[in-house]
Amino acid sequence: MTLPPVSSAHVFGPVTSGRLGRSLGIDLLGEKICSFDCLYCEVKPTTRLILDRREWVPTAQLLDELRQWRDAGHTPPEVLTLGGSGEPTLHSGLGAIIAGCKALFPNLPVAVLTNSSLMHLPEVRRELQAADMVLPSMDTLIEAEYRRLNRPHRQVDLQRMAQGLLAFRQEYTGRLLLEILLSKGINDSNANLAALQDYVARLQPDRVDIVTLSRPGAYPEAVAVDAATLGRWRATLCGHAPTTACAPLLCASEPLPRQDPETLAQAVLASLSRRPQTALQLAQALHAPAVAVQLALEKLQQSGHIQHRGSKTDDPSEQFFSAI
Ligand code: SF4
Repeated sequence: MTLPPVSSAHVFGPVTSGRLGRSLGIDLLGEKICSFDCLYCEVKPTTRLILDRREWVPTAQLLDELRQWRDAGHTPPEVLTLGGSGEPTLHSGLGAIIAGCKALFPNLPVAVLTNSSLMHLPEVRRELQAADMVLPSMDTLIEAEYRRLNRPHRQVDLQRMAQGLLAFRQEYTGRLLLEILLSKGINDSNANLAALQDYVARLQPDRVDIVTLSRPGAYPEAVAVDAATLGRWRATLCGHAPTTACAPLLCASEPLPRQDPETLAQAVLASLSRRPQTALQLAQALHAPAVAVQLALEKLQQSGHIQHRGSKTDDPSEQFFSAI
């Protein structure tokens, strides 16, 4: 099987996001460039721990790839999500990229994932104004937990970051969906829960998503919390935001389109190069029949393009795969 080099593509998916629905991703970095090196990162360990804003991938190239994707006649996604291999606000062309996405897909919402580390910068907050949804993370307000879990660049100050996000909330008129990821024995402390309870009350996000690891993280120290802990956190933080959950915002209802096996295998490989997924997650994300995805996975395994990445249970459908 002949497959293109997946590292050249900055538009990936669509993938099914538990928080956003069927999302077409745009990778603004091109490699693992981030201001954090989180234990739980789904991408991989950070190779460039950095705080400089640069045009890491030319803006014109990103928008050109997006235009090509649109013109190829794919089933439209439900949302465009700026994220990818690292922290998207590190791209200095963020504002122009959001504007370009809206020009190419005037009927789709644009979402931006961020770890909040650059929220203290007025220019970043200004550029994010044009996004329909911003999804910031704030896993902990306890300094020792933050250093252990998020492993930040030494110049990312936790208190300054938290204040920056509060300032953004004051200015921003779009939807703010806060994510708190819990890792067992690290940031699931009562001290963090109390601090975040106060913080969420002040932030007033449109929604809080309390989540835990659902895939293997970059480092083995990151372990999921149990359902009881998740439930306790959700119950405590509920009431400070209109919604506290992990449900998709949007849902799809179009029939599954036919795809030739080669094209589907390329889409599966491109998706797995971004994050580990199960066959079921891939089928939902790519809007493809589960049987066809399973066949593509088998072919990709035989040709040495993908590998197993573990499983939550013995059920084969829950096995994770990632690109090699
Ligand atoms: S999880 Fe997000 S913020 Fe953390 S290292 Fe990965 S890309 Fe960066």
